[in-house]
Amino acid sequence: MAMMSREAYLASLEDGRRVFAEGEEVKDLRSHPQFVQAIELVAEGYAKHYKPGEDACGPYFAVPHGKDQLKEILQELLDWDMVTVTTSQGLLALLTAAARIRPASAVYADRIEGYFELCKAQDLRCVQAITDAKGDRRLSPSGQDDPDAYVRIVERRPDGIVVRGAKLHISSASVSHELVVMPTKKMKPGEEDYAVACAIPVNAPGVKIVNTSFAPRERHQDFPVSSRHNMPEGFVILDDVFVPNERVFLAGEVEHSATFAHSLGLWERLGATAHLAEYGDTLVGLAQLIAEANGTERVSHIREKIAEMVIYATLVRAGLEAAIANAEASPEGWYFPSELFTNAAKHHGAAEFSTMVRNLHDIGGGSIVTAPSIADLEHAEVGPFIRKYMATKEGISGEYRTRLFHAIRDFTADAYGGWQLVTMLQSGGGLYAQRLVARKHYPMDEAKRLALKLAGLAEV
Ligand SMILES: Cc1cc2nc3c(=O)[nH]c(=O)nc-3n(C[C@H](O)[C@H](O)[C@H](O)COP(=O)(O)OP(=O)(O)OC[C@H]3O[C@@H](n4cnc5c(N)ncnc54)[C@H](O)[C@@H]3O)c2cc1C
Repeated sequence: MAMMSREAYLASLEDGRRVFAEGEEVKDLRSHPQFVQAIELVAEGYAKHYKPGEDACGPYFAVPHGKDQLKEILQELLDWDMVTVTTSQGLLALLTAAARIRPASAVYADRIEGYFELCKAQDLRCVQAITDAKGDRRLSPSGQDDPDAYVRIVERRPDGIVVRGAKLHISSASVSHELVVMPTKKMKPGEEDYAVACAIPVNAPGVKIVNTSFAPRERHQDFPVSSRHNMPEGFVILDDVFVPNERVFLAGEVEHSATFAHSLGLWERLGATAHLAEYGDTLVGLAQLIAEANGTERVSHIREKIAEMVIYATLVRAGLEAAIANAEASPEGWYFPSELFTNAAKHHGAAEFSTMVRNLHDIGGGSIVTAPSIADLEHAEVGPFIRKYMATKEGISGEYRTRLFHAIRDFTADAYGGWQLVTMLQSGGGLYAQRLVARKHYPMDEAKRLALKLAGLAEV
């Protein structure tokens, strides 16, 4: 076994996987406009990390054995493509679940550790397939009109299980190798068939992935951010897929169903918080640059808005630091971030993100959405006029300011910007899920003790 080179990754995509987009089955993934850049990003990741040798493996397979190592991984993941990030998060989530269920089910825990070693040895990329179609949200899985609204086991065989259902919004599924399937929530007694976690190769018979993507199809220079950083989301259909026993991590034990979702939530929200901390600083940088380019950087309400953004970015980063500083060790010696600080920081970052974008839009002005395209800027006749009227003062050329506006639009106001606004709220399970977990891990007794003391009602 060895690490995959860039070429080996590209070749690995030609494995018979069934991928669909814009009403057609995609036969040549590597040349399709929805996937070209995503595949290039993943391939670059393979090229960057490649090391020869039987024992070589990528840093994304590191399991943190201390707080410093956890911090290092979080710093490194900011430079990884999305699939490399989901590989690390998905496998750490599985290992977290393994540690938590080992006392009750050593067989599943052993299988998870075996699967981790397999992915590491073959340098595979994994995605997290957790969100079900869910049908009527008021009803439980077993109460739905369509019993397939949540992924379920439809057949149990001596050598494995057959699963049916769909997992929605799965980031990067079509350009990865493995679907790490987990229940989306706690299942109740009677819902044993829905308590299923397993690993399925993307090309397994019965897997069909329908894709959406914000990747710009043309005029790439007007989309400086999204043309470089885009990944498809997959609507993953599991049409009676056979999963052999060694890849089955849960098959009916409802009492463990929530363990997987919580473990994934923890790692996904930690990764999201690391990204949010960087995005917070990026939004501050964009706001300051455009204010300077417009000549408004000393105007008092602009300074106040930027100060508000500075405090937001700093508090998200503080939450991230606290999540690492309060990490706890498992019996295996692996470090897990603090549930309380991870969820509180992710919630704060996500809930206030749109307000920070509003500040940036307020500061920047209408050219965020109306600045002429780069092609017009380069036009022989109108280009010089655009440069002249988009310039503001010495040192701020028309081209510089136009490009800044395009970056702000692309990052916060266009297809990618809209995707970001929704994704910040929904990824990792939505604000409600983060509030639930934060409340569960908050030291409420200590808070009550302080309140009783204040009220003069404390016993001691
Ligand atoms: C860009 C993007 C990428 C994603 N990537 C992945 C991925 O890689 N893997 C993955 O598994 N998932 C992924 N997700 C899915 C994400 O976790 C879900 O979107 C999120 O959990 C919400 O689920 P939903 O979209 O089905 O919306 P809903 O479940 O319909 O939720 C919408 C709102 O209704 C509320 N709600 C729903 N049901 C109830 C209820 N019973 N009681 C109270 N409130 C309720 C929710 O709290 C939320 O506020 C991704 C989402 C996005 C947008």
